[in-house]
Amino acid sequence: MAETIRENIKRRVGWLSAIGAAGLLTGLVSSIVIANSEPTAPVSTIGLAGFGASVVAFAGAFVAALRIRCPKCHQRIGAGALLGKSCQKCGVSLDSPCA
Ligand SMILES: [Zn+2]
Repeated sequence: MAETIRENIKRRVGWLSAIGAAGLLTGLVSSIVIANSEPTAPVSTIGLAGFGASVVAFAGAFVAALRIRCPKCHQRIGAGALLGKSCQKCGVSLDSPCA
């Protein structure tokens, strides 16, 4: 059975949520590493790099979720489109099969 547009968007939002959650977790672990190491220690630099990467992952996933495109008309509708019944741009029903 073909995937519906809603399922397609949900799947992509799911991936982005996983990336965002991984970013949050990395940020948390990095903060603990930074807090528990000397500022000059190499591990502190690794912690800072990890924290930077986590911010990028979280912000990137968040922005990507807001910019998710309709599989039909390819316009940006965002993850919020899942709250509705159809694409706000082209009006296609989210429960119709994804072409
Ligand atoms: Zn559309």
